[in-house]
Amino acid sequence: MSKHYDLIAIGGGSGGLSVAERAAKYGKRCAVIESGRLGGTCVNVGCVPKKVMWYGAEIAHALEAAADYGFDVSVNGFDWSELVRRREAYISGINTWYHSYLSDSDIDEIQGYARFIDAHTVEVNGQTYTADHIAISTGGRPVTPSVPGAELGIDSDGFFALKEQPKRVAVVGAGYIAVEVAGVLNALGTEVSLYLRKQHFLRSFDAMLREGLMEQMLEDGISIFPSTQVGSLEKEEDGTLTLICDKGTRTPGLDAVIWAIGRTPNTDDLNLEAAGISCNEHGFIPTDAFQNTNVEGVYALGDITGREQLTPVAIAAARRLADRLFNNQPERRLEYKNIASVIFSHPPIGTVGLTETEARDLHGEAVKIYQTRFTSMQYSFTERRVQTAMKLVTVGAKEKVVGCHIIGPGADEMLQGFAVAIRMGATKQDLDDTVAIHPTSAEELVTMR
Ligand code: FAD
Ligand code: NDP
Repeated sequence: MSKHYDLIAIGGGSGGLSVAERAAKYGKRCAVIESGRLGGTCVNVGCVPKKVMWYGAEIAHALEAAADYGFDVSVNGFDWSELVRRREAYISGINTWYHSYLSDSDIDEIQGYARFIDAHTVEVNGQTYTADHIAISTGGRPVTPSVPGAELGIDSDGFFALKEQPKRVAVVGAGYIAVEVAGVLNALGTEVSLYLRKQHFLRSFDAMLREGLMEQMLEDGISIFPSTQVGSLEKEEDGTLTLICDKGTRTPGLDAVIWAIGRTPNTDDLNLEAAGISCNEHGFIPTDAFQNTNVEGVYALGDITGREQLTPVAIAAARRLADRLFNNQPERRLEYKNIASVIFSHPPIGTVGLTETEARDLHGEAVKIYQTRFTSMQYSFTERRVQTAMKLVTVGAKEKVVGCHIIGPGADEMLQGFAVAIRMGATKQDLDDTVAIHPTSAEELVTMR
């Protein structure tokens, strides 16, 4: 006999937990099906462990600068395994919290792997469950390249599983994960080389950001190999790895090679055909603007939709879906526009809206750019200098701000408020009319000429 619900969420990550939580608040009977650990990618092998490692790396940079601030500090070592142990204890606390949160909210937690039987029925471990509404939020997993020896390398999940600090690492990739992992490892004392198949990393970001970050990474001692195709990976007798690239270049003596070349959606084993749910050629489940799939009563949320792969995007889409379905808000949906995002590099990058190139392509001569670059005060008299760069992209006679891009210490915390202003349609004059906070880096954004 099947158990029936108002809503079933497949996947207990950012999207699935959020839609069930909001629906349960409206008094609906809900279940979350999770095959792994509650919290999904973000909590277990994404944002959370990454941010803990980033904080560790920031502390390493602060210790480097300590002498310049007059501290007589001698660092006697860094214990990677201790940091990992504490990080995982913190995460398992979050997992535990989610279990009790679900049970306190009267949401059934079903442990196991869900497969569709039909559009309103799923099967988990031989038991069937039915629902009026089913939300698919099964996320994705890292991909590895199809080169000989690829299995000798690790992906971002493998990076978080490292119990010992690797001494020499090659990172292959050019997106968020590649630059974040390379930055963390470098700051914590690993020798890092970064392999890009094209000339630059972060190619879809504003040029000022990627150029600024590349400069700083080189300055900080990361070796960057642009326009380099990875050919194969070999294991040597001493257990180390050799990365072999085109043009015959060999990088021997590596303790780890990290693939950071993107993620693929978890749709292959869902038996979507049984419910008639369509995927695109990459396996993502397309939806309309309201998260509806092609099948009535079935929705897709988060990474699985192939839109911005960010936790707050999955959460926002999920909450709005529950508002629409269960709280009489028929027009409620997430507008996939002006979504701010931060890259936790060293220094961090904050970005929202159009890049300069995108704006010029769309608005041509109507675009006016305001830009500044300076050494942040925090690092202006230290041995390790860190640049800050900021850009405002404006359009039209009223100079509406359509893009804001920041690289520098504090960019991660600086951006959120500016994202609100841009969403509200702020003009350059609105920023100029805002009294600055001094002395900060952020004040430059309201005083740019
Ligand atoms: P997920 O969180 O991936 O959840 C999907 C869940 O579904 C998983 O728990 C999986 O086990 C489960 N599942 C899959 N198939 C089934 C099935 N058939 N039955 C039952 N359960 C199933 N985003 C940010 O905003 N900020 C960051 O700093 C950030 N850092 C990141 C760092 C890394 C290394 C990575 C990999 C990602 C990062 N992200 C970050 C992205 C963020 O983690 C994702 O966008 C977010 O987790 C997507 O949520 P989701 O609900 O779509 O999927
Ligand atoms: P991304 O899609 O961001 O970047 C992967 C990049 O790797 C590609 O854009 C491509 O760049 C390059 N690449 C692809 N294939 C190959 C290959 N065979 N060899 C070498 N390089 C290759 O993926 P990530 O894995 O970095 O991250 C996945 C997603 O997770 C991100 O898009 C982001 O949405 C999310 N995330 C968010 C974070 C945050 O918010 N701070 C942090 C981490 C992840 P090119 O074409 O230029 O070569």
